[in-house]
Amino acid sequence: MKDAERLWTRCADALQSQVSEAVWKASFEEVEAQSTENGILLLLVPNSLVKERIEHRYLTLVRDALDDSGGWGTPFRIDVNLPTADTGDEVADSRPVAPPAPAGLDRSRPTPASTDGDGSRARSLEVPLNPGYTFEAFVIGDSNRFAHAAARSAAETPARSYNPLFIYGGAGLGKTHLLHAIGNYVREQYPGRHVKYVSTETFMNEFVDAIRVNTGMAFKRRYRECDVLMVDDIQFMEGKEGLQQEFFHTFNSLYQASSQIVLTSDKHPRSIPTLEDRLRSRFLSGLITDVQPPELETRLAILQKKAGGDTIHVPDDVLLLIAANVKDNIRELEGALTRIVAYASLNREPLTLPLAEKVLSDVLEAGEPRRITPKLILNDTSEMFGFTIEELCGPSRRRPLVTARQISMYVFRQLTDFSYPAIAREFGGRDHTTVIHAVDKISRLMKERRQIYDQVAELMQKVRGGG
Ligand code: ADP
Ligand code: MG
Repeated sequence: MKDAERLWTRCADALQSQVSEAVWKASFEEVEAQSTENGILLLLVPNSLVKERIEHRYLTLVRDALDDSGGWGTPFRIDVNLPTADTGDEVADSRPVAPPAPAGLDRSRPTPASTDGDGSRARSLEVPLNPGYTFEAFVIGDSNRFAHAAARSAAETPARSYNPLFIYGGAGLGKTHLLHAIGNYVREQYPGRHVKYVSTETFMNEFVDAIRVNTGMAFKRRYRECDVLMVDDIQFMEGKEGLQQEFFHTFNSLYQASSQIVLTSDKHPRSIPTLEDRLRSRFLSGLITDVQPPELETRLAILQKKAGGDTIHVPDDVLLLIAANVKDNIRELEGALTRIVAYASLNREPLTLPLAEKVLSDVLEAGEPRRITPKLILNDTSEMFGFTIEELCGPSRRRPLVTARQISMYVFRQLTDFSYPAIAREFGGRDHTTVIHAVDKISRLMKERRQIYDQVAELMQKVRGGG
């Protein structure tokens, strides 16, 4: 079976469990899937009536089902299945030229992963670049000035300035943002260059997969053909000998070929205890720079930039309240702003300082923080929504369960430093794109639906304070 068919089979299963029998038969049963050269998923329907019906009523549903079935962000298009006799011009005409923009598609969503150039069957778990993570969107302050300049120069003249470039620092301080900014910049300025961004976990999974199904050569080629390779969170290589060896070889071959290598970690290479010495000395041979928690001024500037994109005006005293109280993590800083804006817009209340104080009361009062563990979050979710932990981590896609699971994933991301793949593992080892999608979706829905907002707030409160 081809990839497109496989994806559609999974997606169709998800759809079937969400629509009535009648809708299923009338709209989806006869859909066939194909992929085109430009990576668009073509859904072929028997006639224009079905095409219209899906496009008008079920586009969001299909989008969500695709996202949930491992086709996260995959562009798709619906076309009428022409009889085979009608080949030639008409088929050429029906070939999509640009990805469609279905209703509700979030533009800040990462673009789909490119398919493997070598045509190998190997599963590519590549995390696509987030188009919103650019240098322009990155606010510079004393805490990150040097890291930003180094990243910028690595992007402008790959492999000619600092190689490797190693950025380290605490969670939520902009390391991943900088990597994606390098990637976005190089892709735009040097379209011919092969840029690859990968989390250490993905690198690890692909490596393990390659060994298991014996596609080691394709794996090696995929990594060694990059002009710019970025590996995020390499502290997770700690204690993984085989992986470190493979990475050492990848590193050397890229380095010799004058490819740019950029790495991030939560610690300085000297402080990663079980890192192989030869790998450590490779890292130390390049430029090492850190990102620090931002000063008040920078936190304020980040909030102002973020709030500028919102439709609601956020007064300065509210921004200051957030900036003064959320200090160590920019993800939490943004999360606090999102909550306040969502609350005000749902209640149609003016966004004032007292309102912000009310919404943020848990953050403002937080004394000794409770240690937040996966178990705690899953327990609280289970208690609040009335599903068992097995159900939350299981495969069922029933609607209320899916929503509880997605809210739980969102809260997980907000309150812990877990990466997407790590969260995916806690939820029964699903694909990490499911988590990315859930977080994306819940932050969007919070602004539109009262119930979702309340449930997120309640769960956060519960997890934080043991409420
Ligand atoms: P890390 O990888 O260090 O854990 P991220 O790069 O994921 O952190 O950043 C967390 C969030 O904060 C992201 O949404 C990112 O866009 C935002 N962010 C971090 N640093 C900045 C900055 N200097 N300016 C604007 N946004 C930032
Ligand atoms: Mg990161």
